[in-house]
Amino acid sequence: MTETILVAGGAGYVGSHMVQELINEHYDVVVIDNLSTGHRQAINAQARFYQGDTRDRQFLESVFAQEEITAVIHMDAFSLVPESVQQPLKYFDNNLIGLISLLEAMNKYAIKYLIFSSTAATFGNPVQIPIQDQDPQQPINPYGESKLMMEKIVHWVEQANGLQCVALRYFNAAGALADGSIGEDHRPETHLIPIILRTAAGQQDYVQICGTDYHTPDGTNIRDYVHVMDLAQAHILALKYLQAGNPSCSFNLGSNTGFSVKEILQTAREVTHCAIPAQEAPRRGGDPDILIADNSQAKKILGWHPQYDDIHTIIQTAWTWKQNHPQGYAHK
Ligand code: UDP
Repeated sequence: MTETILVAGGAGYVGSHMVQELINEHYDVVVIDNLSTGHRQAINAQARFYQGDTRDRQFLESVFAQEEITAVIHMDAFSLVPESVQQPLKYFDNNLIGLISLLEAMNKYAIKYLIFSSTAATFGNPVQIPIQDQDPQQPINPYGESKLMMEKIVHWVEQANGLQCVALRYFNAAGALADGSIGEDHRPETHLIPIILRTAAGQQDYVQICGTDYHTPDGTNIRDYVHVMDLAQAHILALKYLQAGNPSCSFNLGSNTGFSVKEILQTAREVTHCAIPAQEAPRRGGDPDILIADNSQAKKILGWHPQYDDIHTIIQTAWTWKQNHPQGYAHK
């Protein structure tokens, strides 16, 4: 029998690639999304879409009553570090209340399996590089704090009612579906690679390099970029892992390598053959120096095999999307 998977936040950047991957793997897919940051057009037409907010218990109830859902992939959250520093309550309200109402609905309908998006931002300034799955989590921004709280809420619900969960801590999601049909379109855009490509496309005069006094070799901060379709693949493996009777767990999803802002800029110049002007600018709030994942546990335990382990290829897929959709999605 085909399994029906609910993707909360399936119109978002990672969510829309998740939906695509599930459909590629012949799952039946239900999407909920309030379209506050996602795009209707990003959702594969084979998925059934319900527009509404995960915090809205009546809405969730109606979806769970109509669909025979076997597992939930929860990707519905606000995720911008700088915005979270300025508007922490927006983050705690959306990210925590959304999770709680989803867990209540799952409990009521006896849905046992949850895969949910956590983040490298839960680690704050890490105690070691690369970051191990079990390293201490001490977030330094409200976004990371909200995700750590989500991990803890899920942990206690597991103890109480037998929920089984894998939390996947994404490092920097990047790239797009290789055919360029779906990709990254945040409004406003704050992420480095899409900002660089927008500048390459002549839609912005220059890239701001935010902070050049970090404790890194070139002074700009270092992140671990992981392809969005590799992230999606890890969720399906995590679901199979739980369904095989394995215990709840958390995994870091990254590449074991990091690139500084200046290195990403240089790679993008090589990929796009554009000059891409850049200027040094002050640090943003809440940014650690270096975030790199140790992904060995995800590889060993889940059997994760990232397909896009080269930063040129990752940026190339994002560039293909950008060239196909210079203005992003036509509608919100
Ligand atoms: N960054 C930058 N200029 C920008 C946007 C981002 O220098 O216009 C830097 C930012 O300081 C961080 C890295 O690029 O070190 C990745 O930022 P992004 O917002 O893409 O992801 P985050 O790590 O915040 O999730």
